Amino acid sequence: MLADDTDALVFSKSNAVKQIASEEVRQNLVWKNIFRLGFFHVGFVFACSVYGFGLSAVPIKWLTVLWAVICYYVSGLGITAGVHRLWSHRAYKATLGLRIMLMLMYSAAGLYGIFYWVKDHRIHHKYSDTDADPHNVKRGFFFSHIGWLMVERHPEYRRRQKEIDLSDIIADPVVMFNKKYERELFIIFCIAIPVAVPVIFWGETLLHAILTQCFIRFIFTLHCTLSVNSVAHLWGYRPYNRVINPAENPIVSLLTAGEGFHNYHHTFPWDYKASEWPYLSLNSTTLLIHALWKIGWAYDLREPSPALVQKVINEIGHKPDASYLIH
Ligand SMILES: [Zn+2]
Ligand SMILES: [Zn+2]
Repeated sequence: MLADDTDALVFSKSNAVKQIASEEVRQNLVWKNIFRLGFFHVGFVFACSVYGFGLSAVPIKWLTVLWAVICYYVSGLGITAGVHRLWSHRAYKATLGLRIMLMLMYSAAGLYGIFYWVKDHRIHHKYSDTDADPHNVKRGFFFSHIGWLMVERHPEYRRRQKEIDLSDIIADPVVMFNKKYERELFIIFCIAIPVAVPVIFWGETLLHAILTQCFIRFIFTLHCTLSVNSVAHLWGYRPYNRVINPAENPIVSLLTAGEGFHNYHHTFPWDYKASEWPYLSLNSTTLLIHALWKIGWAYDLREPSPALVQKVINEIGHKPDASYLIH
């Protein structure tokens, strides 16, 4: 594994003091997104009602529930190990076969294309909690969680997106394939296969397969992912950089296979672990990447040296008598 200390402290310090003046602008609603989100949330409430109040005449099979959990977990790892740590941060390298596998896993989550996710995420890191940040937490919990998906992008985002280097993403044919066939991949890997498997292999009813996969699993995965932008930017400890909003939040880590160590992640974004701690600490994404490294599918794993982490803590991390309240 590689230790990468390049400009780490400089990055952390500049990240800590960076601030762009807030700009009052009108952002139009995007009704297409509002309708889509509304449709799936209404379906989610309906599905929860069916199971919560025992409204279904035919009971759901336990294999269908297990299958929904597996799909949640597999698609979640496509987000964390794939579009986040691999493509957004280049925290490790992956063989072509692994990149294809992660792209298909990510497609099962039903989020937007890898290209746009990476662009948004790189802007999020470079301009965290400012108007250029797509889900600026300084605009409140609702906006940072899901409201940002319902409005047009802020003008500051449009200006700053030109500064983001995406040449590595454009050069990756796996990402470009995902960009070209985003809709088809969504239909096949997020809807068709997850719904068809329980119906074909253990005779589940189509209704149970649709309710568990298209509504409960999809919406649950969506909100777990969004909680990194909202919850982990609002609540938790800030031991690595005390003047930024991203915080260490173990509940978010539990829900997102290890993405809630967010104060560390914003301080050392190139670390493949996205945490100071090894994979047994609520971080199954790190466990997966480590296993893939063992078999040679993942390589050039990057992480800062322990000495650098300690140096950053001493310089800009918490002081023993510091307050951990949100600033
Ligand atoms: Zn963040
Ligand atoms: Zn990140």
